[in-house]
Amino acid sequence: MMQIAGKSLELWKTEYPLLNDLIQYNEVLWSNPSKGLSPSGLDLTLEDIKEAEARFKRFEPYFKKIFPETDGVIESPLSEIGEMKKSLEQEYSATINGDLLLKQDDRLPIAGSIKARGGFHEVIKHAEDLALGHNILSKDDDYGILADKKYKEFFSAFSIMVGSTGNLGLSIGILSAKLGFNVTVHMSSDAKQWKKDLLREKGATVVEHQGDFSVAVDAGRSQCEEKLTCYYIDDENSKDLFMGYAVAALRLKKQLDELNVQVNEENPLTVYLPCGVGGGPGGIAFGLNQVFGHNVHCYFAEPTHSPSMLIGLMTDQHDKVCVQDFGIDNLTAADGLAVGRPSKYVGQRVKTYIDGVYTIDDERLYRLLHLLYDAEGIKLEPSALAGMIGPVHVAKQAEGGSGTHVVWATGGRLVPEDVWKADYEKGKL
Ligand SMILES: *Cc1c(COP(=O)(O)O)cnc(C)c1O
Repeated sequence: MMQIAGKSLELWKTEYPLLNDLIQYNEVLWSNPSKGLSPSGLDLTLEDIKEAEARFKRFEPYFKKIFPETDGVIESPLSEIGEMKKSLEQEYSATINGDLLLKQDDRLPIAGSIKARGGFHEVIKHAEDLALGHNILSKDDDYGILADKKYKEFFSAFSIMVGSTGNLGLSIGILSAKLGFNVTVHMSSDAKQWKKDLLREKGATVVEHQGDFSVAVDAGRSQCEEKLTCYYIDDENSKDLFMGYAVAALRLKKQLDELNVQVNEENPLTVYLPCGVGGGPGGIAFGLNQVFGHNVHCYFAEPTHSPSMLIGLMTDQHDKVCVQDFGIDNLTAADGLAVGRPSKYVGQRVKTYIDGVYTIDDERLYRLLHLLYDAEGIKLEPSALAGMIGPVHVAKQAEGGSGTHVVWATGGRLVPEDVWKADYEKGKL
């Protein structure tokens, strides 16, 4: 009999009956029984986040120079979406207490997704480490100089490699190429064509793989690790990605203050985060926990076909199990969330401070994409809608969910118009 991490499927199902629903691709809401237990992730502190924030600050003159359409700050707006709130209430016969806000990472400069936080941070950290280490840069310099030919030539002696289902590749590929690195992005052959095209246009090398993507990524990684000049960005295991994402929490705090939104015992903050491998939502949840303590609630959202973080957390097996072990196919239109095996680095660190994980159907992602455009004129990619159903789940719980709700919209700006239009049409009733 096939064993999954040392147990039969039947035994797993007996211990965790929710698996029956997950295997049948039913939408579920899992409440985390470990929430509030003595915290994990003690190796990381607010100081780590501040260090990452300071790094972004040092690079502002550089970003401003190479991407003149930005002011150098990699940040996105926080917008109230009152019309969408009405629309959700109508569609799902629910009453959402409190304000509904959208954190628009689809508007993040250059990469157009949440990956501009983690991906950019790891790339700038690597570039900075190299330049400091070779004594061609000091932390007091105006980092605008990194756009000079001399630095591009310096970085061209080094390579960066990453495996990605899409957006991570875009953010790392675009910025690395701009800095002058040789950058290779390994993608599965079913990755969105426009993402591959855009990367090649920006100067990255795209390697497409048929079949098992994680095997291909492992091969790329060992190739890279054989060379001193090659740097592999490990989506499943990266503190630098995690910290880049966590900076969002400090920024969100500032934006809430500007909107005069109080976060306290009576007015908690509830945040809904689309989850793939876990770094994005995990880093943000970690940061929010540091900033707001027990006054913040975080939910992760995964496609019904890729509930890898949910299974990893629920069974406490993290990266020792993947959804395919349970016969779940990991096929979803939400390519940003199509991850079969979760990050252990993240799972262990978020275990005691996220409130739960829910799953969502692809069809509902399209429906929400459609509704959001009709209500607010905002265009997102399917992955980015996974958070949107969260306030409805919470509204239907006994406590009713007072306070402020922030749905994290994680990507969309770079989606070509015809691709977006087709998605919009799929969400028509
Ligand atoms: C990557 C991604 C996520 C989730 O981030 P992970 O770090 O993989 O969990 C969510 N939405 C979009 C659009 C993404 O590209």
